[in-house]
Amino acid sequence: MGIDVTRVPPARPECRPGCRPEGRLEVVGSVLRTMASQYPRGSRAVASHAVSSCDVCVVGAGMAGLAAAHDAAGRGAKVIVLEATRRPGGRARTVRPAWAGGAAVECGPEFVDAHHELLRDACARAGVTLVPVGGELYAYRQGELAPMATHPANDPADARLATAYWQRMSEIASGIVDADRPNDHPDARALDARPISALFDEVAAEVDAPPESRAQLGRFIQGVLGAEPEDVSALFVAQQAVLDSGGRSARVVEGLAAVAAHLAASLPSPSELRFGARVEHMAAPSADAPIELRTTAGATIHAGAVVLAVPLRALAALDCEPALPQAWRDAARDLRYGSLVKATLATPGVTVPGWAVASDLPTALAWQPGDGLVTTYTGAGRADLLAARTAREVIAQAADDISLLTGRRVAPVGGTWRWTPTSRRGGCYVVFGPGHVGAHWDALREAHDRIALAGEHCGRFTGYVEGAMQAGVRAARQLVG
Ligand SMILES: Cc1cc2nc3c(=O)[nH]c(=O)nc-3n(C[C@H](O)[C@H](O)[C@H](O)COP(=O)(O)OP(=O)(O)OC[C@H]3O[C@@H](n4cnc5c(N)ncnc54)[C@H](O)[C@@H]3O)c2cc1C
Repeated sequence: MGIDVTRVPPARPECRPGCRPEGRLEVVGSVLRTMASQYPRGSRAVASHAVSSCDVCVVGAGMAGLAAAHDAAGRGAKVIVLEATRRPGGRARTVRPAWAGGAAVECGPEFVDAHHELLRDACARAGVTLVPVGGELYAYRQGELAPMATHPANDPADARLATAYWQRMSEIASGIVDADRPNDHPDARALDARPISALFDEVAAEVDAPPESRAQLGRFIQGVLGAEPEDVSALFVAQQAVLDSGGRSARVVEGLAAVAAHLAASLPSPSELRFGARVEHMAAPSADAPIELRTTAGATIHAGAVVLAVPLRALAALDCEPALPQAWRDAARDLRYGSLVKATLATPGVTVPGWAVASDLPTALAWQPGDGLVTTYTGAGRADLLAARTAREVIAQAADDISLLTGRRVAPVGGTWRWTPTSRRGGCYVVFGPGHVGAHWDALREAHDRIALAGEHCGRFTGYVEGAMQAGVRAARQLVG
């Protein structure tokens, strides 16, 4: 159901009696931002510009929330974005450590795929530089480095199995006519009930592939989804396969945080973004009263509609009156997040061949995000093993592995970022397990009354920035007529 912005009650001039402005309120938005910079933080002048009611309140300023805010504001809604942390972008986080010589290092997402149009458009608007990522994939197996396609350790069964699997997967994927609606596949129920590991086993038996060839297929899922194949629905993998249209990915030289910062700063006035504003309570007393949101800093916002652009773990932690729809709570309970561990090291004079090297070493994959830097990227079980170690140990492991891959001794100088289910985020990104596409895919995309969900967990490109942004735009359009 949508709201017509022309019919939303006018914004209330002040928050409820007794409420205090957000702690360390920061207002991002053209005019308000300029004005705020002219006054000391917390001065009356800044506080008097605080807006306590709006047409649409967006909870979370990750890429989903930012896309939702822009879409709603672009069509005339007055938007307030409430972000728990002190920066926009959520999982899109870039640092510029001294050990990297001030170069942008991505702690989370890094690649912009060829067909990720919303993100590419945001990059163009932000004026950042996209550098294509390319070249051959190398493998380091049994102590030897060579292009993956011609590696001497390859068994002929590897290629036979890979060809048979991709043929089977493209046949399955052809049954998905609309990538937004995987449940319309004629065999949706049966496919969804099966873990992708069962399909691997089936195809491996058909082409008589040995366990090591079968294990290589598993590593592909571990790397891409951060999950073990037993925990992934075959229908979910097919839905992702529909979207994989090839083309070259790219990296953002300035880092994805620059794109998020531009989205945050270009939110048109009078819409605004507040940092340090963690929403803890939401009440929707009746259909004709505003929805009330309260932050841990004591602010109250009255909104005509709400986009909840937070990960499922954060959604489950919200205290809501009435409770959020059962279908959303079921999804938040059931869906799991994958595990990824990244480490980036200062590696002066070291070159990684091809675009990346996949290895049987503990850190799994390595690439070179820029001169003098190497990133290792580890998914699923191997990530959980790394995450159980200290940051210093992970960096030392990455240094050892990069030394083996490149034949140059690398010092353990760098940083590591652990995105595992033990962290408060719940992991790297959502994975639909067996039965979950049928149970939760459609429910997460349905708005309820004046509340809609956004985030990578409900985008077409699940697990990607593009999916987060696309879900944000959809949520805004569900709510703003
Ligand atoms: C290691 C790693 C590598 C990745 N690689 C890629 C890649 O190469 N390419 C790609 O496209 N994607 C990649 N991704 C996925 C991508 O990062 C996510 O899909 C996307 O960033 C998710 O955006 P989001 O807005 O849905 O969620 P988030 O980025 O998690 O944003 C949610 C926001 O909500 C805020 N929040 C939470 N609770 C509250 C609350 N109660 N009140 C107010 N605010 C709240 C959070 O602080 C956060 O800012 C990667 C992810 C990881 C972890």
